[in-house]
Amino acid sequence: MKLKGKKVTILGIGVSGQAAAKWIVSQGAQVICSDLNPLNKWPEGLASWCDKNGVGVETKKHKVETCLSSDLIVVSPGVPPKISALEAARRSNIPVIGELALAASFWKGPVVGITGTNGKTTTTMLVDEMLKKANVPHVRAGNIGTPLSAFIEEHTEETIAVLEISSFQLDYFPRVRYSSFSPLRFKATAWLNLAPDHLDRYQDIKNYGESKAVIYDFQRPEDWAIRNIDDKELETWKNRGCARRLYFGALRPGIPGARLDTSLKKINVMWPDNKCEEYDLESWSLKGRHNIENLACAILISRLAGAGAGAVRSVIRSFKAAHHRLQWVAQYGGIDYYDDSKATNIASVLCALESIDQPAVLIIGGRGKGEDYASLAKATKRVRIRSAVVIGEEAKAFEKVLSKVIPVIEVCGIKNGKKTMKKAVREATSLAESGDAILLSPACSSFDMFKNYEERGMAFQEAARELGD
Ligand code: ADP
Repeated sequence: MKLKGKKVTILGIGVSGQAAAKWIVSQGAQVICSDLNPLNKWPEGLASWCDKNGVGVETKKHKVETCLSSDLIVVSPGVPPKISALEAARRSNIPVIGELALAASFWKGPVVGITGTNGKTTTTMLVDEMLKKANVPHVRAGNIGTPLSAFIEEHTEETIAVLEISSFQLDYFPRVRYSSFSPLRFKATAWLNLAPDHLDRYQDIKNYGESKAVIYDFQRPEDWAIRNIDDKELETWKNRGCARRLYFGALRPGIPGARLDTSLKKINVMWPDNKCEEYDLESWSLKGRHNIENLACAILISRLAGAGAGAVRSVIRSFKAAHHRLQWVAQYGGIDYYDDSKATNIASVLCALESIDQPAVLIIGGRGKGEDYASLAKATKRVRIRSAVVIGEEAKAFEKVLSKVIPVIEVCGIKNGKKTMKKAVREATSLAESGDAILLSPACSSFDMFKNYEERGMAFQEAARELGD
């Protein structure tokens, strides 16, 4: 698709919307930026940039007329797919696409897509490090923070795009395989896992999984589809797409992919041509089986993308956990404080609890996403949750299920997140014993009390460190 001379409307001017606008304007299109916020709440400098570049602005509403007079609509992942302006555009056959899908369809080099409920960022970061170490030309983009549009100008046919992709982004990939965006193609995809999440946007887990499975529709027989063999939920889509398969997990002999040995001390890779490689995990520093799964997946992607085994081994030795993902913060009075603010669903909370190997006082709550918390209450004994401090909009919902099985304290105060977190950390400390962990693993999004999960994690870290002053 050529953008020159086209009328393009951008819905949502967050990080990806802005990057899309800048690149699309540079291609000679006529752009309108539409956002629900009034102009004085737009990112600094954006309104004057629009003015200087002849970009139209629309505020407070995504108007049906604006969308209907466009040749193309580029949507931010947070915009709900069923708003009237988008429904009207679809009825009139006006193409609706996300920033990531649009940029990927213009990408000249190979594209790799990493998706799943949990572990996307960690896996994408691992692949990035491995390719860097091996001097393989690439960019890291997508849900991880930098929009792919920001890299289009400078890339070549050699540049691999390593994309972290959320289901919200996949919702805005075109549903017709050979549409005007036909160059859209993933040389390799990786699907890490599927667990209940975002059930306020999707009807059920199958519907949520379906939004991720779309990634397979953009592959050809010579491409690669990598999947976690231990995740039973993923089997629903095991025959989707036509790409060659590779697996990771507790593989039976003879299945190609990355096998975790039972002691979790090694990863053995077997390629379809029966060539084998072994990766020692002695100096691997991340906690938990789930992170070894992420690593196994990252090894397969990086080797396929051209990284040598030496570069991969070097990253296994040096890689450190990303911030706010089961990040150890401090120890006072024999109690360890962990910031796992990025855990925004029950599956990731359970992974954290299984990984720390000590009884835990859990700080949990925030803005809910439609999940049922009964599975957490059922698991308290197995994963050794001693007690819980509940916070945020979901405090009462957690209290209801958890107080039947463990002591629970509610800390109120949604308006002042920092102050509430301080109180929550103090209460958790009063409940903990020497040898315990205090774990912020909220199973919810942060938007009720904080700007984002990073701010929530920093509030926890500050509160924990203050105890040592
Ligand atoms: P994502 O980008 O998919 O949100 P992250 O790598 O940022 O994933 O990790 C988010 C949270 O999920 C962290 O709390 C982490 O401990 C947990 N986690 C990471 N990898 C996995 C996995 N493979 N399975 C389950 N939970 C995981």
